[in-house]
Amino acid sequence: MEVRIDTAACAGHGVCEALAPHIFEVDDEGKAQVVAQTLDEADRVDVENAVNQCPEQALRLIG
Ligand code: SF4
Repeated sequence: MEVRIDTAACAGHGVCEALAPHIFEVDDEGKAQVVAQTLDEADRVDVENAVNQCPEQALRLIG
């Protein structure tokens, strides 16, 4: 499982970070990044929530 961030589309709202702070963080430049070292099945629901609620549709779950 992998999550990709379209940084061109990301507007830095921080919805992803609010939903899953152990996985996402908005950096100083206002772009989301993945801070989790690894993602496993236990993270799937959190990642899916972030993907579905990102206002810019900047997140994509692969695998
Ligand atoms: S919710 Fe979407 S637009 Fe907002 S910071 Fe996260 S990836 Fe970027």
